[in-house]
Amino acid sequence: MGSVECDIAIIGCGPAGLSAAVNAKVRGKKLVLLGSEFCTPKLHKAPHVDNYLGFHSISGEKLRQKFIDHVKAMGIEIERDRVTAVVPQDNSFTIRARDKVYNANSVILATGVSVTKLIPGEDDKLGLGVSYCATCDGGLYKNRTVAVLSYIPDGVDEANYLADICEKVYLLPLYKGHQDRQAKVNKKVEVIEGEKPLAIEGDTLVSGVKLEKRTLEVEGVFVIRDAVLPDKLIPGLDIENNAVNINRDLATNITGLYAAGDNTGQPHQLAKAVGEGQVAALNAVKYIDNL
Ligand SMILES: Cc1cc2nc3c(=O)[nH]c(=O)nc-3n(C[C@H](O)[C@H](O)[C@H](O)COP(=O)(O)OP(=O)(O)OC[C@H]3O[C@@H](n4cnc5c(N)ncnc54)[C@H](O)[C@@H]3O)c2cc1C
Repeated sequence: MGSVECDIAIIGCGPAGLSAAVNAKVRGKKLVLLGSEFCTPKLHKAPHVDNYLGFHSISGEKLRQKFIDHVKAMGIEIERDRVTAVVPQDNSFTIRARDKVYNANSVILATGVSVTKLIPGEDDKLGLGVSYCATCDGGLYKNRTVAVLSYIPDGVDEANYLADICEKVYLLPLYKGHQDRQAKVNKKVEVIEGEKPLAIEGDTLVSGVKLEKRTLEVEGVFVIRDAVLPDKLIPGLDIENNAVNINRDLATNITGLYAAGDNTGQPHQLAKAVGEGQVAALNAVKYIDNL
């Protein structure tokens, strides 16, 4: 697994992350912009945006294209890599993603908010059989049976990766349009269609996933979502009312770590996300210059 060095790592490629990237680039910093497969499903789904200054009556998809074109025109690449953990160290951070490890002096969290609720048992069993990253934790389940509960297409790659290690892999695609990717699923993976996970069970360690009519006996459960809760990415991150606790500089309780966009709380709106992306980037630049 390769490792990449940078000044600022921006996690999330929605309006907040893209705006942070543009502003960090303008200030001449070496940045890495990390995003999942599609940036950003939320904006893509907005049928009609009427409150973003300068773009009267535009579709979310058109605005999304304009944002992406803007960052591309500035020579900013989006690394399609899903971040699974951020580890603060002395004056730096190690960012573990599915494909690579990144080292940065400062991090901007622009991960948005997940609309899917936690599955009962998910939070209690995190680290006791529940994981958010197959590449990171798959090795713990060698020759065992696991389930991948996938809310986004990335789950197919995670299940295929696990198929090479585990005895058996169940894949539950929990999003629309997964049939398009069916051909890519490894033959060793059993795809379970149309059954929803009701709970992750087990006394201490995970022992199963309860479905409506049966329980899958598994020792590991990989939950693959568009956005992992920020405090699951960074243990110790201060959260208040389900939002990252920030000050006016958009600094979090962890030195060098900033947050921007929907994940800092209401209103969940574009102009706020873009503005916060800028403020977070400028303060991250100031922080690095003072190091
Ligand atoms: C249907 C709909 C209509 C809307 N209409 C409007 C409107 O008219 N006006 C308005 O102002 N706002 C509107 N919004 C809200 C607006 O889209 C959001 O406020 C805005 O997209 C928030 O930007 P963000 O960058 O904070 O988060 P997001 O846009 O959610 O982007 C976050 C990105 O980070 C990525 N990500 C998350 N975790 C990770 C990780 N661990 N590793 C890598 N990448 C990660 C996600 O995949 C995503 O691409 C609408 C939203 C919806 C859903």
